[in-house]
Amino acid sequence: MKSSKYRQAALLLAYAACAWLGYYGTMPLPLQAGLLPAACLALVATLYLGWRALPAWLLTAGAAAFLQQHNLQAAALALLPYVCVLLPAALLGEKCRRAAIKAKSAPLDSAQKTALDYHAIVDATPFPLLLNRIGDGVILYANPRARQRLFGTLAPDETRRVQDFYAHAVDRERKSATLMNAGAQSDLEIELVDASGQRFWALVSSNLLRVQGELLVLTGINDIGERKQLEMRLQENHIKMQRHVGEIEHLQKGLREQAFGDALTGVFNRRYLEAVLPNLLKNMHRESRPLGLMMFDADHFKKVNDTYGHKSGDLVLAAIGKTLRNTFRGNDIICRYGGEEFVVLLPGSTLDDTEMKAGLLRRKIEQLQVISADGKHTIRFTVSIGVSAYPLHGENNDSLLRAADDALYRAKEAGRNRVQRASASIQLHP
Ligand code: GH3
Ligand code: MG
Ligand code: MG
Repeated sequence: MKSSKYRQAALLLAYAACAWLGYYGTMPLPLQAGLLPAACLALVATLYLGWRALPAWLLTAGAAAFLQQHNLQAAALALLPYVCVLLPAALLGEKCRRAAIKAKSAPLDSAQKTALDYHAIVDATPFPLLLNRIGDGVILYANPRARQRLFGTLAPDETRRVQDFYAHAVDRERKSATLMNAGAQSDLEIELVDASGQRFWALVSSNLLRVQGELLVLTGINDIGERKQLEMRLQENHIKMQRHVGEIEHLQKGLREQAFGDALTGVFNRRYLEAVLPNLLKNMHRESRPLGLMMFDADHFKKVNDTYGHKSGDLVLAAIGKTLRNTFRGNDIICRYGGEEFVVLLPGSTLDDTEMKAGLLRRKIEQLQVISADGKHTIRFTVSIGVSAYPLHGENNDSLLRAADDALYRAKEAGRNRVQRASASIQLHP
């Protein structure tokens, strides 16, 4: 901008000076006195402009020669100063101008480099920089950014140590150990303490330097407080969301249990049995595994109700539920089929296994003692059990349940408190 202004002024000057020279012969006498300064100005402007002065003096030289057209000798004389003085001056000016441009774009030589003020450069670094001794942590240099962020209004000559700025001493020890081992430590995410005593998160990178035999640490600090706060808020929201999801799952589980559970006995209800059995049979078919089914009914339960009251009957049912839950575990599915009737599904159990487990259950229940609702009586009772199995007694809900129900009926008929296998003949009439 500045140099283009100078160039325009020099061009104007060159035109004026050259015009003066060109018209010199035709000028009135007082004006001819300016010959010398005009010649000097033309010379200086031409030196400065180089070839760019060419149009100015070509124009004026042409005009001068034209004015002297009746006298060839005078015209030649008028052109003489241009050729003798201004042409070499233009050549010289051009040469100088090019040399100056070249010098401007050339890289810094070593002498110029040493003239750079490194201290000023480090001072101007746009993030906090510290230089400390590794041994005692004393800070030898802190750039203005570091002083502003970490020192506050502290007197500049007061000795500070890096450990003053670490929120957790263990971070500094960890960093020193890495520095001693590797010579550098990059992007360590730690909490520092600022000039007002507030903690802030920073990304700290350090390099180990050896200056005149002494080990120093150069540390750059990148304040990531805002990013960290954002991260923490995100994490909080994530935890909150997980809690919500947990609550929703818990509610859903509760609802499922309400829909498929039996509150009195704590086992599944008949709806669940009917929903789960077809899929279970498909799985068993695919895996070529058997499935045992037992159906049992409390014997003379009406009498329990009649003798000890309905509440006591409920206590007996609850005791049956508890015994079932304690007896069958893992994959077995226990359901209250209705009233005082229960069904247990035993995936992977053969008819023999199921019969054996049914016998175990029968004995357990036989030994149960339930205190009546009024606390005055001990109630003892028995169950009758019918067992069937897939694939022996059918391949669907109905045939398996009907086979077990039929066996249960026969157990009752045979005198109760016993286990009865479904007859194989049921397979022939599903
Ligand atoms: P059986 O040996 O032939 O099975 O005789 P039972 O008396 O057990 O059979 P019955 O079908 O005559 O009676 C079943 C009784 O079970 C009738 C009913 O009031 C009772 N009962 C069904 N559900 C409940 C219940 O949730 N609580 C109570 N306390 N009693 C129930
Ligand atoms: Mg009964
Ligand atoms: Mg019954």
